[in-house]
Amino acid sequence: MNSKLKYINFHDKLPKEVNLIAVSKTKSNEGILELYEAGHRDFGENYVQEMVDKYNSLPKDIRWHFIGHLQTNKVKYIAQFVHLIHSVDSLKLIQEISKQGKKYNKSISCLIQCYVGNEETKFGLNSDELISLISAFEELKFPFVKIKGMMGMASNTDNEIQIRNEFSALKKLFDSIANSERDNIRMEFLSMGMSGDFEVAIQCGSNMIRVGSLLFGERNYIK
Ligand SMILES: *Cc1c(COP(=O)(O)O)cnc(C)c1O
Repeated sequence: MNSKLKYINFHDKLPKEVNLIAVSKTKSNEGILELYEAGHRDFGENYVQEMVDKYNSLPKDIRWHFIGHLQTNKVKYIAQFVHLIHSVDSLKLIQEISKQGKKYNKSISCLIQCYVGNEETKFGLNSDELISLISAFEELKFPFVKIKGMMGMASNTDNEIQIRNEFSALKKLFDSIANSERDNIRMEFLSMGMSGDFEVAIQCGSNMIRVGSLLFGERNYIK
C-alpha cells in the first residue's frame, strides 16, 4: 500500500478531536507530497536543517511542527515559519523564541515537553520543573510566545500497563495546569502517542499524535 492510501485509512479511523502530525523526518519530499495531495498539512520534523530545507522546497501552506530537541542557537532558522514547537524544555529556550518572535512580529506557539517516570529520555521537565517554568513564564511576560499545551513520550517498552500509567500521569499534569490558565497559557494540545502507542495515548486523553513509521514505513536509519 502506498503512503497516500495508508494515510487515508489511518486518518479515517482517528477520532475527530485528535490532530495527526505526520512525522516526516528522513523521508523525501515526494513522500510528503503524497500525503499533501491527500489533504494533509501537518508535518513533524526533528532536525532544524532538514525542516528548513523541506520548508524551502515544499508548498507554503504546510504547517511545520518541530518535535526534536531544539538548541537555543538554532531557533532563528525556524522562527519565521514554524507552526508549533513541541519540545520546549527551558526558560532560556523560551527567551530565545521570544526574541525571534519579536524580530518577525510573530507570536510563536509552543508546547512544553514533560516526562513522568521515564528516565531514558534526557529531555523534558518533571512536574516540579514544569510548574516553576510556568510561574517564571507568567512573571516575566513573553508577548511573542504562546504556550498551548504539553508534549510527552512514554518509555520505550512493551509493557502496556507502564505506558498507560505514564500517559495517564501526563494527562493529569496537563489537567492540573489547565486549571490555572492565563493570558499566554492555554492548555489546548496534549501531544502524546507515536506509531507504537498512539491508541493507548488517545485512550489516556491525547489530542495530538505524532506518527511516522506507520504512515511512511520504517525509517532506513535512525538519526
Ligand atoms: C520520530 C518521532 C516520532 C514518530 O515516531 P514513529 O514511531 O515513527 O511513529 C514521534 N515523536 C518524536 C518526538 C519523534 O522523534
